[in-house]
Amino acid sequence: MVHTVLIKVHRTLLSKHSVNSKLKCVRLVSQVTKDKTRRGLPIVHHEGYVSHLPPDHRFKMRKFERLFYYLLKDNVIDRKQVWKPERVSRKVLIETVHTQEYIDDFFSGQIGVKEQKKTGFEWSRGLVSRCRYETGGTLLAVEAALQYGLACSTGGGTHHAFPSHGSGFCLINDMAVAARYFILRNRVSKVLIVDLDVHQGDGTAFIFADDPNVFTFSVHCGKNFPLHKQKSDLDVSLENGVGDDEYMEEIGKWLPLILETFRPDLVIYDAGVDPHQKDALGNLNLTDAGLFHRDYWVMDRVLSHGVPCACVIGGGYSKDLDELSLRHTILHRAATKVWTDRGM
Ligand SMILES: [Zn+2]
Repeated sequence: MVHTVLIKVHRTLLSKHSVNSKLKCVRLVSQVTKDKTRRGLPIVHHEGYVSHLPPDHRFKMRKFERLFYYLLKDNVIDRKQVWKPERVSRKVLIETVHTQEYIDDFFSGQIGVKEQKKTGFEWSRGLVSRCRYETGGTLLAVEAALQYGLACSTGGGTHHAFPSHGSGFCLINDMAVAARYFILRNRVSKVLIVDLDVHQGDGTAFIFADDPNVFTFSVHCGKNFPLHKQKSDLDVSLENGVGDDEYMEEIGKWLPLILETFRPDLVIYDAGVDPHQKDALGNLNLTDAGLFHRDYWVMDRVLSHGVPCACVIGGGYSKDLDELSLRHTILHRAATKVWTDRGM
């Protein structure tokens, strides 16, 4: 596995200056300039992250609004910290990651029943809008992280989406779109995607398999979706039942090494809460405290290397909407503590 790391580091050095700098900037966010009235950790949120689903659906769509509600209610954040994204454009999706055919079909509802089943969602206009806001949110979180060092969205992490199809509740690969978007505009040259969702980031791994400018690091439960794994630059496959200590040992072994050798100038962090012991799809055994420690440690470690960190919430599954939404706020609570402890 170390060998894999070093190969990508070498290739990256060779092609560091080869990215296309001629693409015109497309306006995709409403707030990209420093606003002196804004205080504290940037939190990217939009009510448009939510679209209508049947209440018994396995994917708890309302978790995005509910976790935001808890962040305000528990005084973790205030409204001055909130950045509102715009919907990502069709053009950006195509120039970065997705095929024109797929985006045209997805936007217009030309997705077959079999294909819809694979994604876990019945197509609707609201679903398209939701995905566009969520991807716009990840783009804005990166923009905010580049300006302020650290930022968190209240959505994002749709890592099973491939260029030409969706899969496993993921329709557009927001992290891949954001990584490519900022590389193509020469805002960053090397991006590390740290994917700690319990499922392998197969779409992301596939998209960047031959891209020396993006390093994909996935820590996941081996005996879990997707059945057929892709090859990330570094995959750590865990056995069922792994708990806090063993989990952190693995991340502690690899993340510092990747940061030191690949030397990214941006990290996108997928803080999926599905490794939690009570997650309905997880198979791992992390506690609330374990997730908090994980998130704090990852963000602090990345920032200690002087690298901006943009965070997305990733997966989490429970029948209990409130329990799940609160679990997703662990990321924002840990980020707030990192922000305060580091005097940002
Ligand atoms: Zn997951």
